[in-house]
Order: sequence, then structure tokens, then C-alpha cells
Amino acid sequence: MLGRSPLAAAIRALRAELAGGPRADLGRDVRELGDLLAARAQRRPGTIFPELPEQELLAALPDAAALVSREGWVRVSNAAFDTLAASGRAAGLTPLEITRSAELSEAVRRALEGTARRLELQLGRRSYLVHLAPLLRGEVLLLLRDVTDARRAQATRRDFVANASHELRTPVAAIRAAAETLLAGAVDDPTAARRFVEIVARHAERLARLTEDLLDLSRLESRQWRFELAPVDAGQIASQAVELLTLAAREKGLSISAEVPAGASVRADPRALEQVLVNLVENAVKYTAVGGVTVRGERDGDAWVLSVVDTGPGIDRHHLPRIFERFYRIDPGRAREHGGTGVGLAIVKHLVPGMDGEVGVESGTGGSRFWIRLPVAGEQSFTVRP
Ligand code: ADP
Repeated sequence: MLGRSPLAAAIRALRAELAGGPRADLGRDVRELGDLLAARAQRRPGTIFPELPEQELLAALPDAAALVSREGWVRVSNAAFDTLAASGRAAGLTPLEITRSAELSEAVRRALEGTARRLELQLGRRSYLVHLAPLLRGEVLLLLRDVTDARRAQATRRDFVANASHELRTPVAAIRAAAETLLAGAVDDPTAARRFVEIVARHAERLARLTEDLLDLSRLESRQWRFELAPVDAGQIASQAVELLTLAAREKGLSISAEVPAGASVRADPRALEQVLVNLVENAVKYTAVGGVTVRGERDGDAWVLSVVDTGPGIDRHHLPRIFERFYRIDPGRAREHGGTGVGLAIVKHLVPGMDGEVGVESGTGGSRFWIRLPVAGEQSFTVRP
């Protein structure tokens, strides 16, 4: 059959031409067939416009992604999705087998029936935003975005706002009550008036400290505090901190001194270092009833260790890991009475690492020692960092 058809003749002539013979004379039908084949080749995927392999597409996605077959098992998945499977390979398994989540499995089933869905899912300790999109050929695209960090940050912010509002409420309530009492008549009684105005002044002062501390903390936590690191005379800053609290210490009958050797030059941000030492010395004075407070400086290798030592009540061992958390107080009533905001040590905890230093505490029945360790100032140690 082939031997006698015009097509067979055209093929023979083409073979002869390609082998070096004369140019083949093709019939009209054969030329038309050739044109049609060429047109089809141009349109067919995989030839002129190669189809992007699904694997490559999924690999390019920033989320864990998989294509779920009509039968309900994962046909293709990217590396992030594979890590969700205990075996490290998701292909061939159902979403239920991979995640053990009945909720996700049900959502996939609904998506296979054609309903797009979004849901948030907890898998182990991580949170995922799940997006399910039915595709034209009856499969489902399954995307899982890890939102654990974002959710944690939101929870921290919520906590912060709740705690801060709680702290602000006490002085605001005291000021309001004092003002109302004054307005109700106490203002006409000079002795009573003085007492209530003093209450207003004291709580206004506390409000001012609280808002300042909260602003500092929020700047530090959101990394908006710029550290300007330069060689700093630690002895001088220690003396300034001690001077600032000498009056408060004397009023309580406490001794207070700075014993930092001359030439203790550290690489630090002077403003931040002063705030750290003031916070530590202030606490030491606040919580110590008898004895005194000393700021010491000791060289340790390529660092200086500055310690604030007190003869106070000490801190129970089980509180130690938590006292640097914001709003954590051992005795909330007494700390507030002392004018504490509960964020002093949290600020210290942020400021010290910002200067490449370390901070710690040792405490026992004889008192507490809060220490910070800062690098010795080098030759070219001027740095600005956010
Ligand atoms: P506060 O403003 O309440 O002092 P801080 O963050 O500075 O907050 O300190 C947290 C808690 O750690 C304090 O409420 C107090 O219970 C405890 N603390 C801090 N420094 C000392 C110290 N030198 N001696 C005893 N307890 C301390």
C-alpha cells in the first residue's frame, strides 16, 4: 500500500534528496500535510514552549506546597512539604498520613470536590496558614505557610500591651481618686489638700518613669535603638551611677561606692552603659535594707567584668531564671511600693548584648551580685549599629 501512494513516493524522493540527490518534487497534498505538522508542533506544549515541570514550579514557591491527586494522595511536592512527612517523602501519601490532621484531611476532601478553602492549623508546635485551591484537572494545590514566628510575635505584643495597661492603671487610678477627693472639698482644707497633691505628684512621677521605661523597652525590642559603640571609661560611668543614687542610699543608711580601677576602658555605648549601671545600682539600693552597695570592676582576659554587689535579701534560686523578664517581680506589692516598674532588668537584658556583652546574676542569703561583661576597648572600636 505504502509503496504506491503519493506519500510513499514523496518520502522516497526526500530520502534521495537528503542523500545528495536532486531536490525532491513533493506533491501538493504532501506539502500541505507538512505545513500542518509544523503548525501543530509550534502549538504543542513540550516542543517550542516547553511546559514548566510541576516539580520546578513547586520548588520555586516559598511555602510548603503539594499537588494532591483526584484520589487524595500527594502526587508532587516540594522539599518544604516533604519535611512534614515523618519519612521525609510526601509523594504517595495522603495529607492525613503526613500531618495526622483530620481537619486538613477534611478540607482537602472538600477542595477535591471543588471548594477552595483557607484555614489555620496547628501541627505540633508550629502554626500554618493553609490554602487549598482546586485545579482545572480535578487535582488540588495545597499550600502551607509557616506563621509560627508571626503568631508568637503577635502574642508577645498582646502580652506587652496587656501588662503595660495593667501597670499604667494603678497610678492613673490613684491620681484620679486624689483629684476627685480634692474637688469634692479637700482642696479647701490646706493639710488634706497637701496630702492629696503629694499623692498626685508621686503617682505622676511613677507614670512618667513607666512610660519612659516602656518606650525604651519597645524601642529595644523593635530594634530601633541605635548603639554607638566607642571606647568608654567604665570607672567614670560607674561613679556617675553611684553619684546619682548616693542620696537615696544615704537616706536608707546604706554605704555606696564605686571601686573600678583606673584605665578600665570598655567598648560600649556610654548612654546604654550608664542606663544599665543606674538600673542595677538603683535596684541594689531599693532592695537592700542594711549594709551597702558596691560597684566593682575586674579585668578578665579581653573583657572587663563590672559587678553591682549588694548586702540585700538575695533572690531565691527559683526566681533567678525569670527576673530579667519584663514585668516579672518577686514581690509585686513591695516592688511597686519601691517605685519599681518591673522592666528595669528587661531593659538591661537588651542593652548589654547590644554592646556585645553578657549579663548575669548570682545571689544568696548574703546578697546579690549582678554582673556585666564587656569587651576591652580596641584601637578601631567605633561602630554604629541599629
Ligand atoms: P523593678 O522595677 O520591679 O525593680 P526590675 O526588672 O528592675 O523591676 O527587677 C525585677 C525584680 O527582680 C524586682 O521586682 C525584684 O523583685 C528583683 N530584684 C532586682 N534586683 C534585685 C536586688 N538587687 N536584690 C533583690 N531583688 C532584686
